[in-house]
Amino acid sequence: MAALDGLPPLSDVIRRHGLDARKALGQNFILDLNLTQKVARNAGPLEDATVFEVGPGPGGLTRAILALGAKKVIAVERDPRCLPALAEVSAHYPGRLEVIEGDALTTDFEALAPEGPVKIIANLPYNVGTQLLVNWLLPKQWPPFWQSLTLMFQKEVGLRIVADEEDDHYGRLGVLCGWRANAHMAFDIPPQAFTPPPKVTSTVVHLTPNENPIPCSVANLEKVTQAAFGQRRKMLRQSLKPIGGEKLLEKAGIDPQRRAETLSVEEFCRLANSL
Ligand code: SAM
Repeated sequence: MAALDGLPPLSDVIRRHGLDARKALGQNFILDLNLTQKVARNAGPLEDATVFEVGPGPGGLTRAILALGAKKVIAVERDPRCLPALAEVSAHYPGRLEVIEGDALTTDFEALAPEGPVKIIANLPYNVGTQLLVNWLLPKQWPPFWQSLTLMFQKEVGLRIVADEEDDHYGRLGVLCGWRANAHMAFDIPPQAFTPPPKVTSTVVHLTPNENPIPCSVANLEKVTQAAFGQRRKMLRQSLKPIGGEKLLEKAGIDPQRRAETLSVEEFCRLANSL
């Protein structure tokens, strides 16, 4: 595939640096730089932004973000084998790519965030993708340090992120995302677009922060959603018994015969505030 930036094609980079994909690290690489540009474009203008990327791997998405003009990319990669390949990208874009070798789950992105707009763009490793999203939705400060999240997930996770009440995929993740963010699915990516191809279709999800979420304690919201969706087919008077049952529902003004999947985000916040 012809490179968009004068750097060698990704297949060459992978061969030269011996980057055979490791399943344990969720390594499914995208080698088509037109596709990585399409993903990066979804984040909107990048010229004045610092972009955080998780798992740059051989650098396909990183190169697209840089070619689209991002002021700076800070990329966190756990696999040290990728560092020499990323050093070549860094040399091609002097001063614009910083690579941190480490685990994104324990990286304090909030502390790393510089002045100015921050966007997060990533083709996330499947095994840690949901936890990373939850971490970004629950930083110390709100509105958060990021302006947008453009993230690739397994489609099934994408459906859970954007789900509203009455949707089969609605659950704890949908409530959290609906409370703190505006989320939509941008487009799907078929398995064949990855090397090696995963078993399932992927999807790109775009999230922007809800600047004024309903005031509510995160711990209480987690308690009510955990209890309610823990037994999603049961009536709330039953599923919420361990945390107050009918009394709690009465205080929140919610019919005890309803089920978790019928409650809006606003109603879950009311329950959390009644705890
Ligand atoms: N960005 C590349 C692309 O689009 O082709 C690679 C994406 S691949 C799905 C996921 C990447 O995340 C791999 O490079 C993997 O080594 C890295 N990774 C896995 N777990 C990680 C973690 N906990 N922290 C940081 N990077 C991780």
